[in-house]
Amino acid sequence: MDVMKKVPVREQDPKVRATNFEEVCLGYNDEEAKAEAERCLKCKNAQCRKGCPVSINIPEFIRSVQEGDNKKAYEIISEDSALPAICGRVCPQESQCEGKCVRGVKGEPISIGKLERYVADWARENGIVPEKPATTNGKKVAVIGSGPAGLTCAGELAKLGYEVTIFEALHEAGGVLVYGIPEFRLPKETVVKNEVENLKKLGVKIETNVIVSKSVTIDELFEEEGFEAVFIGSGAGLPKFMGIPGEQANGVFSANEYLTRNNLMKAFREGSDTPIARGQRVAVVGGGNVAMDAARTALRLGAKVYIVYRRSEEELPARAEEVHHAKEEGIIFELLTNPTEILVDENGWVKGMRCVRMELGEPDASGRRRPVEVPNSEFDLELDTVIMSLGTSPNPLISSTTKGLDVNKHRCIIAEEETGKTTKDGVYAGGDAVTGAATVILAMEAGKKGAKGIHEYLSNK
Ligand SMILES: Cc1cc2nc3c(=O)[nH]c(=O)nc-3n(C[C@H](O)[C@H](O)[C@H](O)COP(=O)(O)OP(=O)(O)OC[C@H]3O[C@@H](n4cnc5c(N)ncnc54)[C@H](O)[C@@H]3O)c2cc1C
Ligand code: SF4
Repeated sequence: MDVMKKVPVREQDPKVRATNFEEVCLGYNDEEAKAEAERCLKCKNAQCRKGCPVSINIPEFIRSVQEGDNKKAYEIISEDSALPAICGRVCPQESQCEGKCVRGVKGEPISIGKLERYVADWARENGIVPEKPATTNGKKVAVIGSGPAGLTCAGELAKLGYEVTIFEALHEAGGVLVYGIPEFRLPKETVVKNEVENLKKLGVKIETNVIVSKSVTIDELFEEEGFEAVFIGSGAGLPKFMGIPGEQANGVFSANEYLTRNNLMKAFREGSDTPIARGQRVAVVGGGNVAMDAARTALRLGAKVYIVYRRSEEELPARAEEVHHAKEEGIIFELLTNPTEILVDENGWVKGMRCVRMELGEPDASGRRRPVEVPNSEFDLELDTVIMSLGTSPNPLISSTTKGLDVNKHRCIIAEEETGKTTKDGVYAGGDAVTGAATVILAMEAGKKGAKGIHEYLSNK
């Protein structure tokens, strides 16, 4: 074995997986996990841990995997993370723990994410569940939203003995984990549901189909329902559009709508109650993880798919692994290309997209080289579907109906970084609702800090 190289992980063949929604990555088996764990130097001053936003004791859990004690490995991870099977699959490890791993200086870093996933999957398959605290302290806390921020905050508070209820607008718990990230990256029934069930075993109650600020307001939660603190983890689900002509045509989707219809409403299944028009020629505008997910979903529904992105490959914001998988599956990348108009037929449906070629000029405020139009480079792509994946912002529903809850100019809730404390007494917030669209692990970190802030607040009340 070459200790400088990662133990390769098995994946579905690209040609096969391009036609199904099964998980792409098959994960390590026992021998592979042990062999990968053996590569770890178990550093005393472990840099990997410093790169993990929730500070998982990485060298110690890897040591337990190497020793064949997966239960202990799971316990070590669970001290700091309530969603390891999810993080092991979707965290950007290359820029976090693995990005700091000293093995990566001369060779390839340890596959920390794949080992985390291995341990969490082992725990699920072997029926290991978290223990409910023996008593509660009788104090009620409401959590709004069941994404990673809300789930983590709820779990941490339940472990401290609080009576926690999560209010979720959709009919299933999980936030982006169930409605955004597709099945082929994150299986819903096995992985996400199981981690949500584990929280329920800690005593957390989840009420779905409750839109806070419509079904019930935050003030009513305090005054009529007896909650003593509230955590807002309502995410950033409001899509952005380009504002170009033709964007209102039939066949133009936001990535959020397209993915929600597929992942949550199961539009991809034959006989679905809410089927989606299956495009044959689809363009996804944008270059982030969400764009890759939308493109790879459209491909699996049978389309020829283009990613249209105005900068070059180097600036693509999506994880390198996602871009690599998308290319392997046959997604066509139209880089340095910007749409200027959606072309619409006489019945109001998309028939194409006019684009212009771009080149990179001087760096802009973000430090990235600004894309500028190449004169006379217009061309048309023949399409029947366009999916806009240009980012999202927090929905203003809660902030605009809750007195005393301040937001910044991007409509993000203003909250203290270390505690999640907002401008309204007893109300805490974290995750995408505060930062704008970010990552699962940062939302979890914010959920953890919010729980700590609430615990301090209620302990001193
Ligand atoms: C398609 C897609 C792919 C992604 N891929 C990755 C990835 O690979 N890796 C990664 O780390 N991150 C990824 N992200 C980002 C990541 O999923 C988010 O940063 C993270 O989910 C944010 O967590 P959250 O808990 O703040 O919000 P969310 O996950 O958005 O959850 C918020 C929840 O609040 C609910 N809600 C909103 N308003 C109300 C209300 N008024 N009342 C009750 N409930 C309400 C929503 O229905 C939702 O369930 C991806 C995002 C998307 C959209
Ligand atoms: S930095 Fe790398 S080698 Fe060192 S303990 Fe962490 S994972 Fe192991």
